[in-house]
Parts: sequence; C-alpha cells; structure tokens
Amino acid sequence: MTLFPAKSYPTLPVKGETDTYPVHRIFCVGQNYADHAKEVGSSVDPEAPFFFMKDAQALVPTGETIPLAPGTDNLHYEMELVIALGAPLFNATEDQARAAIFGYACGLDMTRRDLQAAAKAKGRPWDFAKNFEQSAILASISRDFTPANQRIWLTLDGQLRQDGTIADMVRGPVEVLTYLSRFYHLDAGDLVFTGTPAGIGAVTAGSRVEGGIEGLEPVAVTYAA
Ligand code: MN
Repeated sequence: MTLFPAKSYPTLPVKGETDTYPVHRIFCVGQNYADHAKEVGSSVDPEAPFFFMKDAQALVPTGETIPLAPGTDNLHYEMELVIALGAPLFNATEDQARAAIFGYACGLDMTRRDLQAAAKAKGRPWDFAKNFEQSAILASISRDFTPANQRIWLTLDGQLRQDGTIADMVRGPVEVLTYLSRFYHLDAGDLVFTGTPAGIGAVTAGSRVEGGIEGLEPVAVTYAA
C-alpha cells in the first residue's frame, strides 16, 4: 500500500484507436523557429538546441475550460507540434529516431512570460515559467502524420496570431530526438514539444485559444471568465 493514492500517468487519445497513450515525461525545445527567437530578443543557437521540461501532470486535454495560472500577469500561448515516442531511444541514429516516433499531436506550451523574463535576467531556471499545473494542453495523437511543410496556426478569440509552417523549424523532429537521446534514455510515453513560430501573446480571463497543424486534430482551451 502507498500512504496516499499514487497519481497515475495522464493519457492521450490516439486517433482511430481505442487504447490510450500514457504520458510519462514532457520535454520541450526552446527557440526552434528563427522568427520566434527574434521576437523574444534572441537568435537560434547554431551550436545545439536547448530544452526544458514539464511534469506529465501538467497535461490538460483539448477542449477544457481552465482557470488562469496563478503567479503571473502575462500568461502566454505557444502553438507547437508535439512528438510522441513509442519505443526506447538512447544515443540514437537518425533512422532509429525516426523508427521510434509513435505519432504527433498539436500542443500548447503555456508560459508565464513575466517569470521567464525575470529568470532570464537573473540566469535562473525556467521551471516556474514553464512547468506549472495545466501548462501543457494537448489534442489527440495521430499515427499517420509525416512532418513536411504543413501550416501551423493559432487564433486568440478568433483572431489569427500565429501562422507559419513546420518546415521553418530550425531542427526537425528527428534531429531533436537524436540530440535529446544523447542525454536521456528516452522511452515510449515521452512527449517532445518542438517549439513555436512567431506571434506569441497573452491570454486573459475568458480567452479562447485554438491552434492547429494541417493533418492533426486541433488543440483548444478556454480560460474561465
Ligand atoms: Mn515552447
């Protein structure tokens, strides 16, 4: 027996299947589109990608109405392509990385932008800015999606705010996975957010956010009024 109920892993639906996908870890790539890196006063590091993480428990399925996050006056949306792994991966080749991908989903990497700016200014970790409850909003996983030059977009209250193509990722899914696999024993159940294009912005009480990538189920969230 455990002293109190152990939390179970959250799950995501998989398009066309009855079994669900248990989410173990959530990795996120920072600044993987040049136009977004520029809008946050940075540029893509030519040496290597960088990452941060979110707890699996931060997952919210698409379509829910949730409260604004505490501790921030500047809660931002970031629309992203998310990789779902289906097999172990360590020190992987590109072929191994490609073969380990289970599918893809649309995700929102919600960010406390004010806390992130403060962390950056002081050289502190990003956890409070990125890893908080209800900060990873996800739609269902599709197994029949092959990343190419699909459109990626986001609307805030019906207004188009992000509009790009996933071909503009500086490092694509396979490169991201091979790099990450040098530092972690990746496994089935691990998700990787692959970064956001330009057009980030804040939500407020009552905001409706919808994001999509051609060929995937769109992701949506409403913030309680
Ligand atoms: Mn992001």
